[in-house]
Amino acid sequence: MLIAKDIHKSYGNLHVLKGVELEIHEKEIVSIVGSSGAGKSTLLHILGTLDLPDSGTVSMGEVNLGKLKKDQLADFRNDSLGFIFQFHNLLPEFTALENIQIPGMIKKTPSQALAKRAGELAELLGISHRLHAKPSEMSGGEQQRVAVARALINSPKVVLADEPSGNLDTANAEALHQLFFKLRDELNQTFVIVTHNEPLANLSDRKVSMKDGLIE
Ligand code: ADP
Repeated sequence: MLIAKDIHKSYGNLHVLKGVELEIHEKEIVSIVGSSGAGKSTLLHILGTLDLPDSGTVSMGEVNLGKLKKDQLADFRNDSLGFIFQFHNLLPEFTALENIQIPGMIKKTPSQALAKRAGELAELLGISHRLHAKPSEMSGGEQQRVAVARALINSPKVVLADEPSGNLDTANAEALHQLFFKLRDELNQTFVIVTHNEPLANLSDRKVSMKDGLIE
């Protein structure tokens, strides 16, 4: 579904990605592991169209993402991709519910449908009782579950996560990982997750190891 072909990326003289090939299938949880500096985040950003490769292509279905114009790319990113980062990146002045709905507002989803979807996701993620809290009033685990709901609000084809449990204690990390599998099973959600968390990587449907800018 999401296919990266012969991806090269350099920063100055540093050749970070040296011809990466990766294909992500629907309903699959893929973990990307490897030592620090191996190029994992760079690859994830390129898969997520947040950064451009120097050469090579990223495509989804029939669409070559490198050929999209700026506006088309912004719409594609908002509609078809969900992002979860190590730090939740919620907007502090908005409630959990408002944060969850933001990508849907950008997509101009009618407000009733948007509220319904947000409510269903909150239920699934166990945060219904926290929807009117601000991020600063929530625990780390709750904040990250709000970020997951926000990533899912537009029913993206793929969720890209960069160290999503990197800032959580063991119990909250474990709970978050269980949620990813629940979302795969109940919503057929596809995930690509950069992680140092061995238990998560080992539970994934596929573990991809990066070394020196290539997939081993
Ligand atoms: P990983 O996620 O595997 O730890 P990264 O993809 O973050 O690795 O980084 C790979 C290499 O590219 C590192 O040496 C890093 O310092 C370098 N790098 C990443 N982003 C930039 C950037 N924007 N400018 C310069 N160098 C970068």
